[in-house]
Amino acid sequence: MVNERMYGLGAEPSAIRELFAYGMVRKAEIGAENVFDFSIGNPSVPAPDAVKQAVLELMDEEPSALHGYTPAAGDPRVRQAVADHIRRRYDVPAQPEQVYLTAGAAAGLAISISAVTEPGDEVIIIAPFFPEYKVWIGTAGCTCVEVPAHVPDFQLDIDALAQAIGPKTAAIILNSPNNPVGAVYSRENLEAFAALLARKEEELGRKLYVISDEPYREITYGAEVPYVPCVWPRTIVCYSYSKSLSLPGERIGYLYVSDLMDDAREVSTAVAGAGRALGFICAPVLFQRVIARCIDEPSDVAAYAANRELLTTGLGELGYEFVEPQGAFYLWVRALEDDAQAFSDRAKAHELLLVPSDSFGVGGWVRVSYCVSREVIERSMPAFKALKESYEG
Ligand code: PLP
Repeated sequence: MVNERMYGLGAEPSAIRELFAYGMVRKAEIGAENVFDFSIGNPSVPAPDAVKQAVLELMDEEPSALHGYTPAAGDPRVRQAVADHIRRRYDVPAQPEQVYLTAGAAAGLAISISAVTEPGDEVIIIAPFFPEYKVWIGTAGCTCVEVPAHVPDFQLDIDALAQAIGPKTAAIILNSPNNPVGAVYSRENLEAFAALLARKEEELGRKLYVISDEPYREITYGAEVPYVPCVWPRTIVCYSYSKSLSLPGERIGYLYVSDLMDDAREVSTAVAGAGRALGFICAPVLFQRVIARCIDEPSDVAAYAANRELLTTGLGELGYEFVEPQGAFYLWVRALEDDAQAFSDRAKAHELLLVPSDSFGVGGWVRVSYCVSREVIERSMPAFKALKESYEG
C-alpha cells in the first residue's frame, strides 16, 4: 500500500516537465533544430568562468574534508559569507545563524512553509503562481488560498488580499520578479501590502509571515526589486543560484530568516527543525564552497534582455497579446482560444512548446520561456505566424 497523495503526485508530473520530456523525445525524432522548446526555465547563459575556476581550485583541497558532511544548516564559513553579502548589499543586520543553505529555492520554500505553519493553516499564493507551491503547501498539511494578481499590471491586489487574509492565514508567498508573468512588485505596492499585513496582525492577533521566493532577483530589465525584509520584517527570503549563476542542476541556494523580525531566533530554530524533518540537511557541499567564493559574482542578463526584445517585437508584430516582462525570463502570452491546453496542443503541431496556464492557476494563457538561444527565437517566428494564421480561418 503506498501513500495515495504521493502516488497521485508521482503519477501526474508537472505540466512543465511533461512538455519538456515531450520536447526531448520530439528532438530525437526530428532533430533539435526543428523543435522550438520554450517549456522550461533552464538558463541558456553559461555559468560564469569564476564558477569553473572555483571548482578547479577546490579540487586541490583535501578530499575527505571537501566532500564530507557539513552541519545541517551548512558550512559556518559559507553561512558567514552569505550573511556578509546580505549585510553589504541590503544594509540589514544579517547574522550567519539566520542563514540556512538549501538545495535550491525549492528546498528553501518547502522548509519555510513547514517552519511557520501548523496543519490546517492557510497559505496564500498569488495567481498565476509557480505550480509547485501547491504541492509544498499540501505536504505541510495546509490549505492553499489563491488570490489573483491585479490585472493588467499583475501587481499585488491589496483589496483582494484584504479579503483573503483571515484567522487561519499563516503565510503569504511572494515571487518577484515573477514566474510566469515577469512582474516586479513596486516599492509602493509592497509598502501598501506591508501596511495591510500590519493591520491584519493587529486585528487577528497572529503573526503573518511572508515567504519571498527570489530565484529571479538578479534578472531584471531596469526595474528596482525592493528587498522584502526591509518592507515587511517578518520575511523569510528563499534565494537560489539556479538562475542568477546558471546552476540549476547543482541544487544550491539559501534561506534567510530576516533578523529584523521580533521572533527571528524562534523562526530559525523552526527552520532547522523543518530541514531536519524533511531531510533537507547539508546542502550540496562542493557548491556551498563554490558559492562562498563567487558570492559577489554578477549575473549576466544581457542575453535574456536581447531575447526579450526579439520575442516581444516579433510576437507584437504578429498581433499576439502579452504582458511586458519587467524581470525573469518568461513571456505570458494570451492564448488564441479560451482553452489554454487546446492552444498548447495546437502549437505542438507547429513544433512550438508553450506551457498552458492552467497549472499556474489561471486559464487562457501560455508561458513562453525565453532562456533559450537567440536562434531558437529567430527560427520560431514562422511557426508562431502559422499558429496565428491557423486561427484566422
Ligand atoms: N520558484 C520559482 C518561481 C521558480 O521558477 C523555480 C524554478 O524554476 C523555483 C522556485 C525552484 O528553483 P530552484 O531550482 O532554485 O529550486
